[in-house]
Amino acid sequence: MTETVTNWAGNITYAAKELHRPHSLHALRGLVAGSSRVRALGSGHSFNEIAEAGEDGVLLSLDALPPEIDVDTTARTVRVGGGVRYAELAREVHRHGLALPNMASLPHISVAGSVATGTHGSGVGNGPLSSSVRAVEIVTADGSTGRFARGVSDWFGGAVTSLGALGVVTSLTLDLEPAFEVEQHVFTEMPLEGLDRAAFETIMSAAYSVSLFTDWRAPGFRQVWVKRRTDQPLPDFPWAAPATEKMHPVPGMPAVNCTEQFGVPGPWHERLPHFRAEFTPSSGAELQSEYLLPRESAVAVLHALDGIRETVAPVLQTCEVRTVAADDQWLSPSHGRDTVAVHFTWVEDTRAVLPVVRRVEEALAPFDARPHWGKVFTTPAAELRARYPRLGDFRTCARSVDPEGKFTNAFVRDVLGH
Ligand SMILES: Cc1cc2nc3c(=O)[nH]c(=O)nc-3n(C[C@H](O)[C@H](O)[C@H](O)COP(=O)(O)OP(=O)(O)OC[C@H]3O[C@@H](n4cnc5c(N)ncnc54)[C@H](O)[C@@H]3O)c2cc1C
Repeated sequence: MTETVTNWAGNITYAAKELHRPHSLHALRGLVAGSSRVRALGSGHSFNEIAEAGEDGVLLSLDALPPEIDVDTTARTVRVGGGVRYAELAREVHRHGLALPNMASLPHISVAGSVATGTHGSGVGNGPLSSSVRAVEIVTADGSTGRFARGVSDWFGGAVTSLGALGVVTSLTLDLEPAFEVEQHVFTEMPLEGLDRAAFETIMSAAYSVSLFTDWRAPGFRQVWVKRRTDQPLPDFPWAAPATEKMHPVPGMPAVNCTEQFGVPGPWHERLPHFRAEFTPSSGAELQSEYLLPRESAVAVLHALDGIRETVAPVLQTCEVRTVAADDQWLSPSHGRDTVAVHFTWVEDTRAVLPVVRRVEEALAPFDARPHWGKVFTTPAAELRARYPRLGDFRTCARSVDPEGKFTNAFVRDVLGH
């Protein structure tokens, strides 16, 4: 490949024979039909080899396709093209007086790539971003389009959080709701001591979206971000003190790129992400890992991590604890269980970080941890497979939709176990 393409973090240089950026759906179909191995590339914000095409494969970026965003205000849905990112989608949806129920911390990620890996925001009542998807259109191996719709297609459970293994997603239809406003309050220094299951539930349910941040340099949490919908009650938050200055989740970083705080109300899409859409991070000096675990184990999980904090802290920038409501995509890390998600932003030194990732995985082993598909993990594939009760259904679906395995790569083969 003449052009070197790396992911956003720069820790992966994608292996591929060729990279193509088709300008039309017709050209994309031709490329898929005429290639023996294909992988779609989203905005490249994953931290592992999930998007890799392999030395003999073709990598297809959708960022040159016309950016379709078609809002239906009557049906309250939006049809969005496979290359579109959340920031541009959210602005357009909001212009029509409508909203997505939730967003991830960064709005610059592509919709198709995000839902393919089970990307999520936070909130006890909020499923992952894929739970808004009601239909996907996928260009499959022969270049034709397959449509998979909720309640209609038998394969819908595998079609959204698909790891890119069924084909190239060229369009998604998402459910919308009326636009709402959110205000964001940041609190500081919440102790871990005394936090029991009931208190954890109360804290994480205090508002629409709640995130806890710690650097694990001391027990407890350095920051708590509370995102309240203004149409819901103002929570009492006696567990921590209100921040006195605007904060960045990574201690010491300038807060200028973070979304508005101090309870200033604003549109959902300018408060639900932690980072402003106008701020364009071209590359990131960081690695990330995340584990999704049963929510009922949250307090035990936090104590297990507190037990290894002296190992974790030296390579950690920040750790974020969120909740995700159960969903029913077969490969979703929050499949079938209300979830606590524990995220780590590491320093960008892979050699220093990997042994700590292994140590974290050992500490979380008793809790049936499912790693985020798009982040750094070392969990052996056989163990991963055992953590997904519907993996067999996904394998059957992948074999049926893509019998020759045109869209598989080493990562997907490992996950599927063939
Ligand atoms: C700064 C930062 C903040 C983040 N915040 C969050 C967060 O808050 N919550 C969270 O859960 N995750 C978060 N992530 C992780 C991120 O959401 C995921 O890695 C997500 O998959 C990125 O989307 P992408 O478009 O960059 O996908 P890519 O990394 O480009 O691809 C991921 C997968 O999707 C597939 N794919 C992409 N496009 C298509 C398509 N059109 N058709 C078929 N398959 C496709 C690829 O083949 C690959 O398998 C964050 C990442 C970064 C860098």
